[in-house]
Amino acid sequence: MNSFNELINIITEFSYSEKMPLLFLGHGNPMNAIEKNQFVDGFREIAGTLPRPKAILCISAHWYINATKVTAMDMPSTIHDFYGFPDKLYKVNYPAKGSLELAEETKNILLPNNVELDFNWGLDHGTWSVLTHLYPNADIPVVQLSIDYTMDAQYHFELAKKLNVLRSKGILIIGSGNIIHNLSLVDFENIEKDNYGYDWAIEARETINNLILDSNFKSLVEYKKQSKAIQLAIPTPDHFLPLIYILGLKEENEKITMFNDKLVAGSLSMTSLKVVSLNS
Ligand code: ZN
Repeated sequence: MNSFNELINIITEFSYSEKMPLLFLGHGNPMNAIEKNQFVDGFREIAGTLPRPKAILCISAHWYINATKVTAMDMPSTIHDFYGFPDKLYKVNYPAKGSLELAEETKNILLPNNVELDFNWGLDHGTWSVLTHLYPNADIPVVQLSIDYTMDAQYHFELAKKLNVLRSKGILIIGSGNIIHNLSLVDFENIEKDNYGYDWAIEARETINNLILDSNFKSLVEYKKQSKAIQLAIPTPDHFLPLIYILGLKEENEKITMFNDKLVAGSLSMTSLKVVSLNS
């Protein structure tokens, strides 16, 4: 029995000798969880290109609090953190297990930053609305890391780097937000129109995409100093900071590919990223 377990350990260590890729996912409308559309297809396709993770660490725009916490319960509940949607969306359950082991490891690697183990949150829709497409069987443990809103983008960019060690242990790190996210300007009349963005959103997408692909992350961390279009795209940091985590984690020998790179309802983008080693 022991030798069998040892063999499994060797195989597992071997298969994770490469770093896990990173994902930033534009999650958009919570209805994406139960709809069939091009974005959902994009999530499913990207999952098919990834090695199977041992566990997932998700940084969601929707756990934006005045501390850094990590979920540590055995069975995180599915949180329906939105209002006014159809009943069927409130019935979605994503029964992935948690992982106390990953939560404790995350807390330890972020030291001396103070990270609290959390037993009250769960999986918010920033996490489950996308994971339900990536891993529909919910058979991979999921842990969430909160975003401390008292800290600036530079802090989050640096904090993210410390998480890199998890990637060699088979942990898939996902940032879930939206790069362009101005809810107060959403054009509900044109919500179904393909790739529809206001002029400023078109401009912001082009500028931000170029900065990402040129690895000019400093300008993105300093987004508050950028153009009027970028200020309209990022009126609050919550949906943008998950991207900053993924950019902070990217290493020099890695490349970024984009998918779901479309504008929605004038003032939102679904642009998503995959970061992989240049050799893969
Ligand atoms: Zn959101």
